[in-house]
Order: sequence, then C-alpha cells, then structure tokens
Amino acid sequence: MGWSRHKRWAGWMAALWMAGAAATTVAPPKGDVLLVPDRVWTAEGDMARSGWAVLVHDGAISAVGPEASLHAPAGTQRIALPGTTLTPGLIDLHSHVFLHPYNETLWNDQVLKEPQDYRTLEAAAHARATLLAGFTTLRDLGTEGAGYADVSIKRAIDEGMIPGPRMFIATRAIVATASYGPGPRGFRPDMDLPSGAQEVSGVDEAIRATREQAGRGADWIKLYADYRVGVDGSTQPTLSLAEMKAIVDTAHLSGRPVAAHASSDEGVRLAVEAGVDSIEHGYGASESTFRLLKQHGTAYEPTLTAVESTAQYFEHYVPGQSEPTARMKDAERAFRTALKLGVTIGNGSDVGVFAHGDNWREPANMVRDGMTAPQALHAATDVAARILRQQDKFGRIAPGMRADLAAFTGDPSTHIDDLRHVAFVMKDGTVYRTPQATP
Ligand SMILES: [Zn+2]
Repeated sequence: MGWSRHKRWAGWMAALWMAGAAATTVAPPKGDVLLVPDRVWTAEGDMARSGWAVLVHDGAISAVGPEASLHAPAGTQRIALPGTTLTPGLIDLHSHVFLHPYNETLWNDQVLKEPQDYRTLEAAAHARATLLAGFTTLRDLGTEGAGYADVSIKRAIDEGMIPGPRMFIATRAIVATASYGPGPRGFRPDMDLPSGAQEVSGVDEAIRATREQAGRGADWIKLYADYRVGVDGSTQPTLSLAEMKAIVDTAHLSGRPVAAHASSDEGVRLAVEAGVDSIEHGYGASESTFRLLKQHGTAYEPTLTAVESTAQYFEHYVPGQSEPTARMKDAERAFRTALKLGVTIGNGSDVGVFAHGDNWREPANMVRDGMTAPQALHAATDVAARILRQQDKFGRIAPGMRADLAAFTGDPSTHIDDLRHVAFVMKDGTVYRTPQATP
C-alpha cells in the first residue's frame, strides 16, 4: 500500500470517527473509488461476473462492468479485493438490536432487569457488529420493552456518531392487552410488569398507538397478530380483524407499511386480510393461506434461524448433527410452501435471538431448506430493498444506487456459507472494513 493510498485510508477512517459531534446526517465522502474484486454479483440475474469492477463517485455507484471498460477519472483511488466477490450491501428485514442471545440472558430477564440505558449501549455495539458483517441495512422490528430508544440509535448512526447500518425502525410495536410478555402468565398477578410492546384494546386505542409510534419516529408499524394465549399455551389470534384493519389503515394513511408477527394459520390469514405488508415467522400457515399472501402481494420473512437458535438453546439441537426439531420442521414446511407458490420471500432472521453479526446464518438456512444460493442472495438484496420500498436507493449494484457494498472471500452465489467471510464493507461510500483494516 503506497503512501498516498495510506493517507486516503486514514482520511476515510478519520472522517468516520470525527463526525461524532455532527448534528446532521453525515455527507458521503467526496471523490472516486474503483473497487476491484475477483467477481461482482450485481443482483441483476444470478451469475457473478468475473473480471468486473465497480466505480464509486461521491458515495454513489457511477459504473459497473469489466474493469477495462470503466473510465476512472484521474486521482481515482483503486482498492484491490483479491479472492473476493463484491455484492450489494446485505439487508436483514427482521432484527432486534435491543436483544441479545437468549442463552446469554432469557428474554424475560433482558426486559425486566436490564436498564434501558444499558440496552441502548448494547444496541450500539450490535449495530456496529451488524455493519462490519456486511449488513448495511436493517429493518428493526421492535425494541422489546426499550421504548423509543431505537429512534436515538438510528439518529446516532445517521449522524456518524456510531457505526451502524441504515435503520428502518418500528419503535415499541403493538400487541393486544395482556397477550405479550413478560406478564401476565408466570408472574404474581398483583405485580404490574412492563410489557415488551404497547398494549391496545379496541379500534380507538389501536389507532392512537399507531399514531403515537409514527409521531415518535416509527418507519414501519409492527403488530402481533397472534401469541401464546391459548388455554393450553398454544398460539392463538390476539388482535381482532377490526383492530388490525384500524392499525393498517392508520399506518398506510401516513405512508407507513405494516409488519405482522404471525405464527398460526388463523393469525396469518387475519393479518393478510387486514392488509399488512409483511408476515413474520408464519410457521403454521397452510398452503391456502400462503396462496392468500401471493394474491395480496404480502411479503414473507421466514426467520428460520430464530427457530434453529431456540432449538439449540432449549432442545439440545446441534446443527449438522441432530434431527430437526418439530418446530424446525414446521418452519421448513412453511418456507418450502411459500417458495413453491412464488410468495415474495425477504431475508429476515430475527437476529437478537442469536448473535448480531451472525446474520449470514439466515441466507444459509434458506439454502439449507430449499433456495438456491442466488435466490437467497436476492432475498437479502434487491428483493429486500423492494419490500422496504427502497429499490431505487440500494439493493443492487447499478449506476445511481447508493454505494452500499460488501465483499466476501470466495463466491456466495455458488457457496452461500461464504457470507461468513466478509472482507470489505462500504455504506453510502464510506469504507468501514477492508482486508487490511477494520476500525
Ligand atoms: Zn422478532
């Protein structure tokens, strides 16, 4: 590495860390950068292109193609990424940066015992781990009892105070009264415990909660269509169709989409009928219900890794050794059904249940359960961007798109597990990780 290049690197790193006091969104770095990996996977089609390179100008992609065909202006910084495949920055559509793995601390204990200040610091560390893993965008689906603290995490990232992905946030999320943890089941009935989400009963309260969350900064509204409220602890619908419709209509009026946690067949069906934009989990949904998703254009995030992780923590499941558990088989059946019917499947992992930075496990599990490697990559790039309504800003490598890019040693478009081996990360033109240096 020559002196001038070293100086340029140092400048970028300094720009990242000195932006801390800025009160507004950090401007992308000025200038031209040529990224030269072994291959480029653009998200157009399924094949990685050998010998291609990507030119970045002032934080946006200006050209992509065979290196010899690109006209790099004088003074362009050339970054060689030997042995790697460059892809669009990856997207995880279902994260919880305010949670950490349940085998470290049970969910109840995180919500009841960890102060919100501490959880916010944890979330900052999780955001950094996520970005350095090549995930440049998250849809974070609820703070799980940490109030509106995700608004501050998103702001600190946007201002360059802390490194992290682009955040699309849901703030508190909405649940039916007395249907979500930590209470009411399993605790003394005379204790008034905080809830992991905002409780509502009736159409008026549902509308009010949606407006409150939107007003305080929610990009998406998250609702819980079902939960373990059955007399036997089984998953049953919680919010009524009328309540969910009120939430959806209110959110849509303000231009916000709605994500629904739904695991039971009836819960998924009611949420789709109410008009939600994405279904999370869906493990118990029948083929006819998935047809309904297809008809309505409702997206589906399978969260296979959440099921695998809890099987590891609580059912002694060992990946690659144990038989899949009953819940894992349910999740796989739902995923294969959605895949067969052509439902829009986005990469959403429920990370937080497992370690932040291990987001690669979800695309890997989607391939384990029936997708091809390119299908899983699409689910984590252009398809996810479309679900976020951001397809004109990121999710592909094409001129005019923001320079959100990641490179992985090997070729994840043929071996999805290569997503574990991240070598380079750029978000909005700023370099956060190189083979030589990680801030
Ligand atoms: Zn979740």
